[in-house]
Order: sequence, then C-alpha cells, then structure tokens
Amino acid sequence: MAKTLKIYGSTGSIGKSCLNVLRLKREDFSLKLIAAGNNLDLLKTQIKEFRPEYATIYNDKKVEELKFFLDEFGGNTRFVPFEKSFEIYSDITLSAIVGSAGLIPTFKSIPHTKRLALANKESMVLAGEFINRECKKHGTEIIPVDSEHNAIHQSMRAGKIEEVKSLILTASGGPFLGKGIEELKTVSVEETLNHPTWDMGSKITVDSATLMNKGLEVIEAHFLFGIDYENIKVKIHPQSVVHSMVEFVDGSIICQMGKTDMMLPIQYALYFPDRINTPEFSFDFGDFLKLEFLEPDRETFKSLDLAYRCGKGSVGDRIILNCANEIAVNSFLEENMPFLKIPEFIERMLDKIDRPKISSIEDVIGFNEKVRKICIEEVKGGNF
Ligand code: NDP
Repeated sequence: MAKTLKIYGSTGSIGKSCLNVLRLKREDFSLKLIAAGNNLDLLKTQIKEFRPEYATIYNDKKVEELKFFLDEFGGNTRFVPFEKSFEIYSDITLSAIVGSAGLIPTFKSIPHTKRLALANKESMVLAGEFINRECKKHGTEIIPVDSEHNAIHQSMRAGKIEEVKSLILTASGGPFLGKGIEELKTVSVEETLNHPTWDMGSKITVDSATLMNKGLEVIEAHFLFGIDYENIKVKIHPQSVVHSMVEFVDGSIICQMGKTDMMLPIQYALYFPDRINTPEFSFDFGDFLKLEFLEPDRETFKSLDLAYRCGKGSVGDRIILNCANEIAVNSFLEENMPFLKIPEFIERMLDKIDRPKISSIEDVIGFNEKVRKICIEEVKGGNF
C-alpha cells in the first residue's frame, strides 16, 4: 500500500530532490501535504503535477493567492493553514525547511507521524534532547536524510550500538579547502556558493565553506546516535565519495559510499528498511579513483571548534551558536558581512548573551527568538 507523505520545504533543494524520488515510482507514495515558505509559483507547479491532498505556505501574504489558485485549478488539493498542517497525519514527514524555522514544524509533527525523515539539522542542534524525548513518547522513528548521518545509519546496521567506538563524519572541505586566513579575507558570495561536490541551498553551502555545517552535524550526530562528542571525529574527504563511517570496537570501519546526489539518502529514508532497485544511482569508479582523508584546518576554519564547544555546553550555547550563525550567514549572503567575520560574530554573541534556564521546547523557542532579535540588532548596528 502507498505510504502517506508530508513534505515541509517542498520548494527547496531537498524538497525538490524528494519529489524527484517520488517521480521514480509514483505509486509507492500518496502525497498528503506539500509546504512552501515563499515560493508560490513553484508550489503551484508542484500542486499541478503531484496533486497532494493538502498544500500550505508559510508566508501569510501569499495565502489568499494560494487559496484562489486552488479554487481556480479545480483539483482535489485543499488549503490548510501552515500551523494547522502539523496535525495532519502521515506515515512519513520530511522535515526540509532551512534553519531554525524548521524547528516548530519538525517538533509539532512528531505526534502525527510514524517516521520523521530529518534533513533540517538545525532543529536537532537547537532541541535534540526535546525532539528525542517527544519521539520516544509517541513512538516516532527518525531516519536521517543528511547524507553523513544517513551513511552512519546505514553503517550502524553492521553492528550493535554498544560496539561502536567512534563516528567519523566526512566533509568535502568546501570551496576553500587548503586556503589560509589571508586568502579568505576577500572571498565573494559567488566563490563561496561554488561548492565543489554538492548542489545545495545557499545557507548550507555557506555553512560548508566555513565548516560550520560539519560542526552542526557533529551536534546532530550526538543526538541522533547518542555518541559522546569525544568519539565523533571529522575527516576532510575532498572526493565526497565516502559519506561517513562508523568505527567499531574490533577495529573494523564500515562506511557508505555512493554518488553525491541527495536523492539517494532521501530514497533510503523513505523506503527503509527496504532498498529499491534504482540503476540511475549506480556508482562509477572510473579508471582511477583516489580517496583522501585529511585533518581539518581548525585554526583557519574556527566554526568547527565553536560547534564542539557549544555541543559540550548547554542548550543555550547551542541556540546562540545556531542563531548567530544563521544571522551572520544571511548578512554574508547580502554582502554586508565579510566571510571571516562569521565565526568572529558567533563567538562575540556567545560572550555577550546570558543563558536562561531551558527546560522545555517552549523555552527553546522563546530563547531562540530573543537571541535572534539581539543578533539582528547587532548586525544592523554594524557590530561584527
Ligand atoms: P533551501 O534553501 O534550498 O530550501 C529551504 C526550504 O525551506 C524552501 O522550501 C523554503 O521555502 C523553506 N522555508 C524557508 N524559510 C521558511 C519558513 N520560515 N517557513 C517555512 N518554510 C520555509 O534549503 P535546502 O533544501 O538546501 O536545506 C533544507 C534543510 O536540509 C537544511 O536544514 C539543510 O541544512 C538540510 N540539508 C540540506 C542538504 C542539501 O543538499 N541541500 C543536505 C543535507 C541537509 P521557499 O523556497 O518557498 O521560500
């Protein structure tokens, strides 16, 4: 029987790749809902092709136009307000909104889905312990979509959790691998968005260039697999063929390799525990495949250590890390903040902002909003 699926962030890079997966075997999934942020034109195109049961958009100003379109179009797709959509049941929910905006849809969908296919790493960084608790309460399983965690999920099937010695997350190194501080002082947005191996949304592409993406993934891995930070390692692997590894206590290292196409981990997260026959993803070794594994340059790319520090710290530390990074990356993309100021800004916000006691998801949301406002004001004032 077809499984029901909701997609948050259908108009983004991951959302579009998920719809590509659906195109391969349309009969396997019944699309319950697609949700966009702002891009109504693309949402309309997706509605016309996929005819989901429900559609929604986050941007209030576009709601009337969406409703009008649904009436005019005459398909069976119904409008549902964004906040109401969380309560619609589906077998699988793909969480693929970018940034902290993904937290509420992710968290509030948990009671109403059997499986959370998780791409939105930021929600795990902000609230990993609360998300895990909520999943346990409702019997919801998380299958990671992030390629590294997806690779670890696959590799974990080779042993027991108590047999794991360490997780080894691979990182491409981004467009600035091998560059030093002097060279990074003047890099442009265009150069930063020119990722050597992956085609992704702009926020994660900048995060890859600063190595913050790997830092966020270290925290995500800690919450997904329950492994101590000391046992989560990072290796730079410029070829992006090995998507990550698990080292077991007997010395065996199990990895997952494959094409650099997010359709692959998305497909795994949708079909797990089964694998389907998709010849288009066959891996071509070529005539000479060379795989390298290098140590990250933590002096130049300071964001990685900042993330380890905050991961080992408090929920408040992680919220400031994630929020300050998000605001700094936006500012960089608007060409207001130089590349190297991104980690400096995060460090300054970590020094400046007091942490309250955080004991619930409401506290996380409240503190995240507060930090967001402070960071926006600081950037507006040119304090970076
Ligand atoms: P994109 O920027 O390509 O897409 C973001 C999606 O989020 C869009 O659908 C956008 O809608 C939606 N969105 C943005 N803001 C809001 C909001 N306030 N409310 C509701 N929806 C919103 O991002 P990616 O697809 O690259 O990344 C999505 C997530 O997946 C991120 O957390 C990222 O770290 C993670 N990820 C991405 C990978 C990739 O290859 N791209 C790999 C691994 C993880 P709209 O466009 O309509 O405004």
